[in-house]
Amino acid sequence: EAEASWDAVDAYLADALVDEDAALAAARLSSSATTMPHAAVSAAQGAFLALLARLTGARRVLEFGTLAGYSALWFARAVGPAGRVVSLELEEQNARVARENVARAQVSERVEVRVGPAVESAERLIAEDVPPFDLVFIDADKPSNPQYLDAALRLTRRGALIVIDNVVRSGAVLDSASDDPRVRGVRAVVDAVAAHPALEATALQTVGVKGWDGLLLALRR
Ligand code: SAM
Repeated sequence: EAEASWDAVDAYLADALVDEDAALAAARLSSSATTMPHAAVSAAQGAFLALLARLTGARRVLEFGTLAGYSALWFARAVGPAGRVVSLELEEQNARVARENVARAQVSERVEVRVGPAVESAERLIAEDVPPFDLVFIDADKPSNPQYLDAALRLTRRGALIVIDNVVRSGAVLDSASDDPRVRGVRAVVDAVAAHPALEATALQTVGVKGWDGLLLALRR
């Protein structure tokens, strides 16, 4: 019953406040053509990510986990024509869907989808000495979260924002003895953020069409 209300309130707020144009809506719906249908952030969450990018003045965004490019599109809109979004995706199929969505939204020149294991793609970005990113969104396979945080710290400037999705997992994150590698990945990255002297962080629980979950936000001082 609670979840029905969460969905209804999410729909109400998204309808009232979120300007999801046809290209964004098509991208969200196209996740059914990916390897992980329904794994994209919600419309309200996408708009929230875009607001974070705008608030921080982000021009360069790095994303771990592209899927159909829905969150990448929100970032692409937020960074503006001079901005850049680099999104790392394991599955060629998902990258193909994402590139179609990016093209439909007419932001191909500012979005680059790199295919392969994200740890390796991130190593390559480090080796290429790309300009630092202003915002990193970590939303790929959860067991690798600690490695993604390490890479994010090497690829960002001071003052950058690191956002980690799905840190609550319907409360499963509480189980310190969990043998679920996703829960272990979340707990490990929470510990790593907490122990890092240069990160100022908090996390917010969320409810809505994505169930009960949460986002961790860390500012790199
Ligand atoms: N950020 C997307 C959005 O909100 O629109 C959703 C991303 S979905 C939750 C996670 C994605 O990470 C999937 O597309 C999956 O294929 C990808 N993924 C899983 N393991 C990966 C890996 N090792 N490297 C890169 N991407 C990976």
